[in-house]
Amino acid sequence: MKKIPSFTIDHNRLLRGVYVSRRDVTPSGDVITTFDVRMTEPNRQPALSPEALHALEHLAATYLRNNPEWKERIVYWGPMGCCTGNYLIIQGELESSDIVTLLRDTMKFVAEFDGEIPGATPRDCGNYSFMDLEAARKAARTYLDEVLTVITPDNLVYPQ
Ligand code: ZN
Repeated sequence: MKKIPSFTIDHNRLLRGVYVSRRDVTPSGDVITTFDVRMTEPNRQPALSPEALHALEHLAATYLRNNPEWKERIVYWGPMGCCTGNYLIIQGELESSDIVTLLRDTMKFVAEFDGEIPGATPRDCGNYSFMDLEAARKAARTYLDEVLTVITPDNLVYPQ
């Protein structure tokens, strides 16, 4: 089988950041952009815990789907299996710089979140107690302060 494009990125040189992972055109002609929302440096920094990523997933998805400017275009937010980041899929032909403000707002929401995590009940989720809110808040704060607030081109375009 062919190696799929997302396995051809040089993870040895990949920094934390926001990257366009791919763009796809649906049969009806819509373009959808998949972003790599990379929160830790692959194999060089500790990955997030699955519990932190799960709490982050519930909170980020809730925020994005309620954001007045973007909610109609949000297709998906979900964790990467390697636990170093998330995928965000949005309708439209977008650049990574287009969503930096949206991600700053999302991470601020998560970092400051206090209370019951939306959807964290046995009825709404398949593993509802598998959550670490404190670790999600900390990871969002670090990503916001150390990456999104001081973002450079190296955090927006995959290493060539
Ligand atoms: Zn869940």
